[in-house]
Amino acid sequence: MSDMTFKERFVRSLERKKVDKVPVCSVTQTGVVELMDITGAKWPDAHYDAEKMATLAISAHTVAGLEAVRYPFCNTVMAQALGCTISEGNLDAQPQLLDSPCKKKKDVSGISIPDDLLENERISTMLKATEIINDRLSGDVPVVAGILGPAAIACYLCGVKNYLNWCITAPEELGEVLNIGTIACTEYANALFEHGADAVVVIDSESGPDLFPPPLFESMIFPHYRSITSDMKGHSILHICGDATDILDKMAVSGFEGLSIEEKVDLATAEQIVGNRACLIGNVSPAFTLLGRSAEEIKNEAKQCIEDGAGILAPGCGLAPHTPIENIKSFVAARDEFYGEKGLM
Ligand SMILES: [Zn+2]
Repeated sequence: MSDMTFKERFVRSLERKKVDKVPVCSVTQTGVVELMDITGAKWPDAHYDAEKMATLAISAHTVAGLEAVRYPFCNTVMAQALGCTISEGNLDAQPQLLDSPCKKKKDVSGISIPDDLLENERISTMLKATEIINDRLSGDVPVVAGILGPAAIACYLCGVKNYLNWCITAPEELGEVLNIGTIACTEYANALFEHGADAVVVIDSESGPDLFPPPLFESMIFPHYRSITSDMKGHSILHICGDATDILDKMAVSGFEGLSIEEKVDLATAEQIVGNRACLIGNVSPAFTLLGRSAEEIKNEAKQCIEDGAGILAPGCGLAPHTPIENIKSFVAARDEFYGEKGLM
């Protein structure tokens, strides 16, 4: 079993099969400034140029040691493809939403998925990057693409204020936008699989209890997750920021194989709720621990995550751009130390 490749270990973990050790990687953004300096593939260009995107993503594996190649480095691709205005970002700030197309309920009828969605510049850049990454890797490292989920897409398209109001006051209109998000998300995920992605991470924090009322999650969001996962032709992960504890039981039966959770969720509690229904991914704090704490503190927190039931050891959310490579290496080393200390390696 020690001959397992990174990809086999990652996939087996998602499938809740036996592995020699848990994989250590990030299923959220990995672009850090030190890697940009080493590779010359810098933000903002690496968001919009397939070669640079691939180069920066691969370096998180080859230079920092993470056991997956994960891209892109922002959450705006589908939002822009469906009509949002997005800022370009800079060296250490991600592109952000500037303007949404749905200002009023009547604007919802004007939203549609373009027939040539996959030819959209930002989407085709992602598909091209997927191919480049596959060409440059030997095939034994998992290729993991992040995309927006239906709640995130709806929030981008309507703006956060409308999104939160309409879940109560205009559920039909919001439902229409969620439908559009679900169709777009599924089509895009399957295109990524066809171009060589091994897993797709659906980033959908806008459905989490920190923003969306948990009682509405079950009726308004959950059916979309069931639809997406039944139509997705590859390995699937759901990432929700914040404290998702109140919806974990539903997330566990949403069809996603992996659930990526932030450090606000107590992993041992999550393990009790989810059990063997999904692979828990997380949840070392990127903004506190990985960004600025000592190697010993990073390792202690990482080992505790494995102890508590992480099926894949990962940061709880995207890496902060100024996270030192040395800290990522300590994070990876913690996994090996964990098994060494247990006499398992
Ligand atoms: Zn997050």
